[in-house]
Amino acid sequence: MVATADARENRDLFAAIGNTPLIYLRKVSKAIGRTILGKAEFVNPGGSVKDRTAKFIIEDAEKKGALQPGNAIVEGTAGNTGIALAMLGNARGYHCIIFVPDDQSPEKFALLKAYGADVRPVPVVSFADERNYYHQARRLAASTPKTFWADQFNNIANRRGHYTTTGPEIWEAAGGYLTAFVAAAGTGGTFAGVSAALKERKPSIRCVVADPMGSSLYRYIKDGTLDFEGDSIVEGIGIKRVTENFAGAPADDAVRVDDATMVEMAFFLLREEGLLLGGSAALNVAAAARVGARLPPGSTVVTILCDGGGRSLSRLYNPQWLAEKGLSPRCDGLSFL
Ligand code: PMP
Repeated sequence: MVATADARENRDLFAAIGNTPLIYLRKVSKAIGRTILGKAEFVNPGGSVKDRTAKFIIEDAEKKGALQPGNAIVEGTAGNTGIALAMLGNARGYHCIIFVPDDQSPEKFALLKAYGADVRPVPVVSFADERNYYHQARRLAASTPKTFWADQFNNIANRRGHYTTTGPEIWEAAGGYLTAFVAAAGTGGTFAGVSAALKERKPSIRCVVADPMGSSLYRYIKDGTLDFEGDSIVEGIGIKRVTENFAGAPADDAVRVDDATMVEMAFFLLREEGLLLGGSAALNVAAAARVGARLPPGSTVVTILCDGGGRSLSRLYNPQWLAEKGLSPRCDGLSFL
């Protein structure tokens, strides 16, 4: 049968985002006697879960008329949202101006440049500081005509997109036997959207926030404060404030995972499962395994494999860089459980 023009439109780059596989993590699952499944967001065309966010935000803004032909998209991002916006921006004809903290991985900067984004590295400062990447993006968009600020932290098209796609996809693939959903938050869009969609279908599904050190969400879920301790090398996750996308997320609990545990899991996943993943994905799986190990045998936990490890080669997968951070690429099984 010959495809019609309409059918071709439905198969464009935007349509290639999502419907990612849910991968059975055989060795992790065997080690704890529970099933751990990872939603393989690294297979999205831009290589991360943030392809979804960029797609949802662009489509929503186009629908509302906030983003028009000839506009530039402005965003502050740890990198993956910028990569996704630059990719989709090229496909639709929007130039992108992307503010990125200058401590993010060189691979992400290289990808942003390859896509042709106007990349503006900014110093790593707290949210209270006006030089923070978020404020710089907001200010530039406010003062420059024909720009659109994507605002992934507070634009709830982000959460809504996960609610209408990622969550239902997980439900379709595993709903009947799903016990828990565990994921870290950067903007909170993934966690809040997926949790809301799953709870709506089966309220007993336990939704647990995975938090790196240096982030406030663990304490926020536990006792309502925004206190935090320590720091983390993981990129793209951890927040010290409650974003619009995270606000009201139906979190039942939170678990904290330190960098040594995350690194151990990253190398376990690489060597035992054949999965080269980014730090947030490794942290998510470590958290899912911890949550799973405390659930009844036979339970099933789903988590998010946010991005691949290719953009972390010079860091997480570089023993020298790890050593400078006091970490080592050990893989002694799952000693942290
Ligand atoms: N992992 C990585 C690698 C990311 O870039 C992000 C987004 N900042 C996340 C996880 C968190 O996703 P979300 O913004 O939906 O909370």
